[in-house]
Amino acid sequence: MKTLDQKVAIITGGGSGIGKAISLLYSSEGAKIVVSDIDEKGGQETIAEIIAKGGEAIFVKADTSKPEDNKNVVEKAVEKFGRLDIAVNNAGIGGPLAPTGEYPIDGWDKTIAINLSGVFYGMRYQIPAMLKSGGGSIVNVASILGKVGTPNSPAYVASKHGVIGLTETAALEYAQQNIRINSIGPGYIMTPLLKSLDDATMKALVGLHPLGRLGTSEEVAELALWLNSDKASFVTGAYYNVDGGYLAR
Ligand code: NAD
Repeated sequence: MKTLDQKVAIITGGGSGIGKAISLLYSSEGAKIVVSDIDEKGGQETIAEIIAKGGEAIFVKADTSKPEDNKNVVEKAVEKFGRLDIAVNNAGIGGPLAPTGEYPIDGWDKTIAINLSGVFYGMRYQIPAMLKSGGGSIVNVASILGKVGTPNSPAYVASKHGVIGLTETAALEYAQQNIRINSIGPGYIMTPLLKSLDDATMKALVGLHPLGRLGTSEEVAELALWLNSDKASFVTGAYYNVDGGYLAR
């Protein structure tokens, strides 16, 4: 039997990078996948890859910063597959780069709305559906920048610190009802999220990871798989790094 046999999983931001790798890995482990993303093309490509490999998947277009879109994703998941067992709240943006004293207000609002409120809205609707399914498991994608600061990313850093606290709170609330809720903190991972960074910045980032390179989306997906599987049955309210040693420095 595969690790996630017959489980129904929502992956937000599943049209690219880490969310795509998680969608593909979970499908290869037997899960039925609901990919949500604001980017229709990316989301459709992910489900096409899954279906081509013999898996089951649907795409639901959604802006994670809108509560009603998150509600719709859960409704579509239950409508299609009958239940909800797993969610990965992964959709996120980097946000503008500027010091706090000059930070664009609209950039702050947008980054918090997607990266932090989006995770809350996701869980707000996923949890009731999981309760009806008898339990479940949620992984929220935070960041190493949910544990430490970095200059010029106040909104991103605040949003990811918020995701870790929100995860701990929800884990306490639902531990007795068989829902485990954890967060993960990737180091810098080679995905389109980093596409705006120049070569010098990329080189400097590599130097911050003791393993001497950036990570891959597949390496992050392996941690998310373990946390959402029964192998992590005694793990809830936890935060795990997958960061090449970044936070150990
Ligand atoms: P990515 O840009 O490759 O993928 C992000 C996905 O989220 C995209 O498909 C995008 O369309 C989607 N998205 C963006 N805004 C959305 C919205 N409002 N509603 C729905 N979907 C939306 O980036 P990634 O690197 O795969 O990032 C995934 C998660 O991992 C993010 O939460 C990010 O903060 C986190 N993370 C990334 C890194 C890294 O170095 N790449 C490091 C730590 C944490």
